[in-house]
Parts: sequence; C-alpha cells; structure tokens
Amino acid sequence: MKRILVTGGAGFLGSHLCEKLLELGNEVICVDNFFTGQKKNIVHLLDNPFFELIRHDVTNPFQVESDEIYNLACPASPIHYQFDAIQTVKTSVMGSINVLGLAKRTNAKVLQASTSEVYGDPAIHPQPEEYWGNVNPIGLRSCYDEGKRCAETLFFDYHRQNGVAIKVIRIFNTYGPRMHPNDGRVVSNFIMQALRNEDITIYGSGEQTRSFCYCDDLIDGMIAMMASDDSITGPINIGNPGEFSINELAELVIELTGSKSRIIHQELPSDDPKQRRPDITKAKELLDWEPIIPLREGLIKTIEYFKTI
Ligand code: NAD
Ligand code: UDP
Repeated sequence: MKRILVTGGAGFLGSHLCEKLLELGNEVICVDNFFTGQKKNIVHLLDNPFFELIRHDVTNPFQVESDEIYNLACPASPIHYQFDAIQTVKTSVMGSINVLGLAKRTNAKVLQASTSEVYGDPAIHPQPEEYWGNVNPIGLRSCYDEGKRCAETLFFDYHRQNGVAIKVIRIFNTYGPRMHPNDGRVVSNFIMQALRNEDITIYGSGEQTRSFCYCDDLIDGMIAMMASDDSITGPINIGNPGEFSINELAELVIELTGSKSRIIHQELPSDDPKQRRPDITKAKELLDWEPIIPLREGLIKTIEYFKTI
C-alpha cells in the first residue's frame, strides 16, 4: 500500500483520481482549498479510513509524508482562473515550489498536471511535446498558461538540481461527470444549456477545434505515467486525438439531449486557440496508453450526470 498525496483532490479530475487510487488499494491524502473543488465530489470517500482530507492552500508550505504526489491544484476553467489571476499564478508557481520542496525532503515521486495551454495558439498541428508553443505572456489567459509553463520549468530544475523524481503530463481538454456546471467550459456549458433548452452559446465562428478526452481515460493515463520507469520524466501529452470543431460539438450535444435549444454566436474571447489536437505517439510508446472512449459515448455519460444535479 502506497501513501499518495493529491493536491486539488476535491476538483473534477482530482476526485476521480482519489477514487481510482483508493480502488487500487492505496492510502490517499487530498489537499484542497475548495476554490473550485466541491465537498460533494469526495463526500462518498470521507467514510473510507484510507482517505484523508486536508483543507489547505498550496501557496502556503505544508508537510505531508507520502510516497507519491499528484499536483493538480489549480483552477482550470477560464472564468475561474481569470477571477483572481494573481492567485492563479501563485498557485502554479508557489504551489509547485512547495510541492517540489516536499518531494525533495520526503523523497516522493511527483507528477505535475500540466496542460495543452503551454502550446498557446499552436502554429504546429497536431502538437508534439517538442513544440515550444505560441503563448501570449501578457494576455487574459497568461496567468494560467505562463503559470503552468513556469511550473514545468520548476519541475525540470528540481529534477536536474536536486534529483527529484518528476513526471510531467500535458492534459488536453478533458470532460466528464463532476465538472462544475457553472465553470464556463464548453462541454459543461453546452450540456447545461441544452438540458434547459436555452440558447447554446458558440464563441466566434465555432470553427475553432478542440480534442476532448473522457475523464476515465485521462486518469488511466495519469496513473500509467506515475507508474512508469523513473527515467520517463515527460512531458507527455495525455489527451484524445479525436478533433472536433465547436460547431460539431454543439450539434452533437443537441442531438444527444434531444434539446430544442437554438445555436447563437457570441464574441470570441481574446487569445482563444484556433486548433488543438495532441500527438500521443509518446504516450502510446512509453506508457502503452491511449484513450478508448469516443466523444459520443463520453458525452452520453456526462449528460446522464448533469441530469442528476
Ligand atoms: P478543477 O478546478 O475542478 O480542480 C482544481 C482543484 O484545485 C479544485 O478542487 C480547487 O479547489 C483546487 N485548488 C485550486 N487552487 C488551489 C490552491 N491554491 N490550493 C489548494 N487547492 C487549490 O479543475 P480540473 O479540471 O479537475 O483540473 C485539475 C488539474 O488538471 C488542474 O491543475 C488543471 O490545470 C489540469 N488540467 C485540466 C484540464 C481539463 O480539461 N480538465 C486540462 C489541462 C490541465
Ligand atoms: N466555447 C464556446 N462556448 C462556450 C464556452 C466555450 O464556444 O459556452 C469555446 C471557447 O471559446 C473555446 C472552446 O469552446 O474555443 C473551448 O473552451 P473551454 O473554455 O472549454 O476550453 P479552452 O479554451 O481552455 O480549451
């Protein structure tokens, strides 16, 4: 039995990760400040004697003995990470310093939940890990993008300078049950709007693309990365290479919900990437991982969840 620390464990992905790690027979400590996480995501785990919950902001140092650390603490949706941009940068940068310092002292292996946003508005398509990205350093999305880029820098510097065992994954748009209904991300927005027969809000022309990964696939990839040989530091893209325009996503959600919603177009937010699709060659070769749940199937499960809340 390993003792595993999950920061951001009460969030959408963190709660699925805690659940899976417990299922696999581990002891799990969840650290979260509940900025975007919710108690109801983990309430079903609270009776488990192998699960512990600590309310804490990772920008402040903390001490937890563990064998492995998954660093997921950071708001992930544009409206939430832009709500307090400075705190978002602090969470990625100071949170990483605190987590890496902890890993160094306790000799724990540490995984960083990085993001496809490090590629910004990519000029190379699909995006391989070697691509350095095209990121605006001073825009509205920069607190998240540059915070995550700096976190990657810190991970590799702690690895080179202090020998910390690191794992960096770059997560592409992931969706599924327990997404926050009001987090403004496209999948949750469209499903909520469709279920309420409200207008579906497409930003811009809707020709921009994203590649959507179902949460269970993502969690399997994350755990495979942590289990991989110490020589595999990443960064490794984890995502589903199936690429859809936002128009296609809207039509699919309307079809699957049987909604009477109309599609309307609103202004495109600044620096909105035009295209995004992971090159997952490395994940396939090094982790023997690839996603298995197609968008249609994942959306059906997600719609069922949103109907219950
Ligand atoms: P989420 O907002 O549901 O989860 C983030 C969690 O971190 C929340 O529980 C929140 O309360 C917690 N948190 C935020 N700031 C904190 C702080 N200072 N101290 C302690 N806890 C804090 O988002 P998610 O979609 O579950 O994303 C989890 C991680 O995966 C994030 O790091 C995100 O950047 C990364 N990621 C997610 C996606 C995606 O599509 N879901 C894509 C790329 C990367
Ligand atoms: N989007 C949209 N309508 C919405 C929410 C988002 O058209 O109600 C678009 C958004 O402009 C972007 C894409 O959907 O082009 C994905 O947005 P999201 O915020 O989910 O993720 P990110 O932009 O961070 O990939």
